Amino acid sequence: MVDGLIMDYQLTVPSLMRRAEQLYGSREVVSRLPDKSLHRYRMADFVRRSKQLTLALRRLGIRSGDRVATLAWNHYGHLEAYFGVPSAEAVLHTINLRLPVDDIVYIADHAEDRILLIDEVLLPLFQQIRSRTHFEHVVVMQATKPVPDGMLDYEELLAAEDPAAFAYPEFGERTAAAMSYTSGTTGRPKGVLYSHRAIVLHSLGIGLAESVALSGHDVAMPVVPMFHVNAWGLPFACVMIGAKLVLPGPHLDPQSLIDLLVRERVTFTAGVPTIWLGILQALDKAAERPDLSALHTMLVGGAAAPPAMIAGFEQRHGLRVVHAWGMTETTPLGTVSNLPLELEGASPEEQLRSRSRQGIPMPLVEVRARGENGSVPWDGKTPGELELRGAWVASSYYRSDEQADRFTEDGWFRTGDIVTIDPTGSVQIQDRIKDVIKSGGEWISSVLLENALMAHPAVAEAAVIAVPDPKWQERPLACVVLREGQSATPDELREFLARDFPKWWLPDAFAFLDQIPKTSAGKFLKSALRKQFATEKEL
Ligand code: AMP
Repeated sequence: MVDGLIMDYQLTVPSLMRRAEQLYGSREVVSRLPDKSLHRYRMADFVRRSKQLTLALRRLGIRSGDRVATLAWNHYGHLEAYFGVPSAEAVLHTINLRLPVDDIVYIADHAEDRILLIDEVLLPLFQQIRSRTHFEHVVVMQATKPVPDGMLDYEELLAAEDPAAFAYPEFGERTAAAMSYTSGTTGRPKGVLYSHRAIVLHSLGIGLAESVALSGHDVAMPVVPMFHVNAWGLPFACVMIGAKLVLPGPHLDPQSLIDLLVRERVTFTAGVPTIWLGILQALDKAAERPDLSALHTMLVGGAAAPPAMIAGFEQRHGLRVVHAWGMTETTPLGTVSNLPLELEGASPEEQLRSRSRQGIPMPLVEVRARGENGSVPWDGKTPGELELRGAWVASSYYRSDEQADRFTEDGWFRTGDIVTIDPTGSVQIQDRIKDVIKSGGEWISSVLLENALMAHPAVAEAAVIAVPDPKWQERPLACVVLREGQSATPDELREFLARDFPKWWLPDAFAFLDQIPKTSAGKFLKSALRKQFATEKEL
């Protein structure tokens, strides 16, 4: 074997920051604050303050490998933590503030977080966990009044540091930079530890034209929270390429978001389908059409993007949706759905069908699906569990006993998603393993039924769950939220579905609800629905 003669340049988060310092100092970062005002500064300010944060953390005793937690919305201070913490060779632990309090206590304890950076507006949440957590220091960001006794003011900490004392650190790219916990719909949340190398390669992946093509010409607004899988890696990627960042803070209602999209002439935005469903309804209702002419890409993932929503944005508002799939364990982007070259001349329906799938794996990520008899063919029909391996896929969970059933002996990660893969390599999610409906020995995909129901003009949201059945083992029950002022009967909806699905797929029962319960990440919380309807059955 002969080694190549190329430098062993280490792929680290501070190297992205150094690039921004050298090349993109004048680019802007805009944040919406809790009082709705806008905070603006330049990337040069961001770099200076991130360096000060690194120095302040060291002064507080943070050493290599220590965990520093955040409880924060999307704003410039959180962005500084994304770079200032890893530049101290410490691990940025973004805690999902929407998790149940017990889970927050559990993960802060499990991660052994030494310091907490918290938004002033989230201090009431801190009061709920205070007596059960063990942070050595609590640092308040965006303080508008003196911080409570025993806590530190983020601005004062930074002001005490001279950024000239900062030297870019040299350490190996396999060092841990950040961590997130899975939302833990079953069992305890599990920690995923991202290496600097994975974050840098994932950032490069986001910039590829073949994936989501983010560039320095973009104005990017991650609606996906910075406490959920690193806001899909967008903060890291934007700093690497000098894209202007627009951070919406705690105001995530459709009107506030539309206002920012228009005002900052956002070109690229990203979030879960629930956010976009709300925005689509607001746009449909708007008396005057807001000027969204700058917006070229809405990246949608985290849950299945209903085809009717993709079509609605495109046909009624000229807005392009790109569907992607990912997980906490995959840093998170795994697959992206762009129209394949082969379908350029296909009918609009066929193109929509293709783009509604979860898409093909990003470069440096490989997919396969396995059923009871091993790998399933890429025929677009045979379901199997999706498995992945690649440059930013987790190799194990952080200090967890639950490894064996998620990582295969030959080094792949088991996602728990049931998919089909078509001959072009495009993945389509059918279900989470635990959500799939097993009826008479065959599988019914709850996701496909939900997508179809959400294409009905009277339906705002739909979640389909399995309910126990003495004859068939399980049968589908559809929980439906109707649009304001609209009506539909179970028979009408069943008839509507019968155009696309075999008779035995059609839900036996419909429940009309005011809203579908959601998880901390804005996805349908089917476990709550199952509980509700199992109980009702017993009554
Ligand atoms: P999380 O780790 O919380 O981001 O959740 C990951 C899970 O969300 C995946 O295993 C999928 O079940 C689901 N998911 C993510 N993206 C999509 C998508 N585009 N379509 C359907 N399900 C998705």
